[in-house]
Amino acid sequence: MIPGRIAILGGGLMGCCTALALADRGARVVIFERRATPMQEASRNTEAKLHLGFVYAADPSLRTARMMQRGAVAFRSLVGRWLGGAALDALLARPFVYAVHRDSQIPVEGIAAHLAKVRDLWTGPAEEAAFRRLSPGELAAVYDPAEILAAFQTGELALDAHRLAQLLRDAVRDEPRIEIHGDFDVTAVEGEAGAFRVRGQARGEGPFAQVVNCLWANRVAVDVASGLAPPGAAMTRHKLGLWLRPGANRVRDLHSTTFVLGPFGDIVAWPDGSLYLSWYPACRVASTLRTDPTDWRILRAGIDAEAVAQATVSALARLCPGLPDVVRGLEPVVDGGAIYALGETDIDDPRSRLHERSAVGPVTLRPGYHSVDTGKYTLAPLFAAELAARILAEEVVGVS
Ligand SMILES: Cc1cc2nc3c(=O)[nH]c(=O)nc-3n(C[C@H](O)[C@H](O)[C@H](O)COP(=O)(O)OP(=O)(O)OC[C@H]3O[C@@H](n4cnc5c(N)ncnc54)[C@H](O)[C@@H]3O)c2cc1C
Repeated sequence: MIPGRIAILGGGLMGCCTALALADRGARVVIFERRATPMQEASRNTEAKLHLGFVYAADPSLRTARMMQRGAVAFRSLVGRWLGGAALDALLARPFVYAVHRDSQIPVEGIAAHLAKVRDLWTGPAEEAAFRRLSPGELAAVYDPAEILAAFQTGELALDAHRLAQLLRDAVRDEPRIEIHGDFDVTAVEGEAGAFRVRGQARGEGPFAQVVNCLWANRVAVDVASGLAPPGAAMTRHKLGLWLRPGANRVRDLHSTTFVLGPFGDIVAWPDGSLYLSWYPACRVASTLRTDPTDWRILRAGIDAEAVAQATVSALARLCPGLPDVVRGLEPVVDGGAIYALGETDIDDPRSRLHERSAVGPVTLRPGYHSVDTGKYTLAPLFAAELAARILAEEVVGVS
């Protein structure tokens, strides 16, 4: 049976996918979003790699890789279904090279062994998880061999998150079963299944049959304000990236690259010449173990974006000497968002729990109240489909 209206807190990728999955099954949904429109924070400013698990070499159990592979498969099929057939094909970047930094937390042989295990787990088209080691000549054509000890070409892909954000914004706006209540800063949820009320700074709305908390950086704060217990110790990091749209100097020999393993960075290169750059020590601009509400707009306003951009390009140029020529004259757009994860130490600690991301996903904290740790962009559509099935199976008495 279709329940009464369902409240979704947060209009990021997790909230929008959950709304689309529920609407697809006939449910009526209201998205509460603090920004004027959805998809303005982490899910717009992410690197948007569809992880297959290659980067999670510090999780030898392969639980994270398994989880990411389920997510990546679901992402392509579900988002393709919600947005229409080949929508994602035009957003795909060049496949990633994994470049092993000389200070890698895991040596080259260990990285190669992990890549092979991840490839062997994969049940999709073989070329997507296949990898091969670049020859010394291929490596030296792009990277500085004094810094990069080995490089492996994989089939892993990233999407253009800015463009996908726009497509999703349009999709939720055009879906008649979805209402968007923008400029609504959620503080807590009151009541019980069938009669939930969503409280904001200045007003409350209801009743709702069920509630799904997809607030990401502020998810735990709202769970706690709603009388629910927090999960274990978690870290919220705030991270930036640089977007460069093509100018006269098109990307030539640049690969999408993840520098492993440790606090390094990434380059994402699209066939049209667009680039996304990040260097962890420069782009990770804040981190906290507290669960108080955060506001990315306030944090972002205090950041010297030009200094972050310069530090990022110069650090990446040490590894990839051709980069300055490619980016010369391009004006980067610098933006980012939060990354929430269970764990108490940052990724420079090889034993940090942050290297493991399998204990994520939706939990039902009390009847009709669901809270989702998205974990990664890669996983949001999978969790949205699982939640929609769970919610509609609960057969809450309809509320109109
Ligand atoms: C720089 C960066 C790079 C990343 N790279 C990758 C990657 O390559 N691959 C990958 O899989 N993952 C990556 N991630 C992680 C990924 O982006 C996130 O896991 C994912 O976007 C989270 O989606 P979400 O919908 O839960 O959060 P968000 O997109 O942040 O959505 C939460 C929404 O809730 C709203 N909100 C917050 N508080 C309130 C409130 N009190 N009331 C109302 N609304 C509120 C926000 O405005 C926002 O719209 C990256 C993240 C960052 C920041």
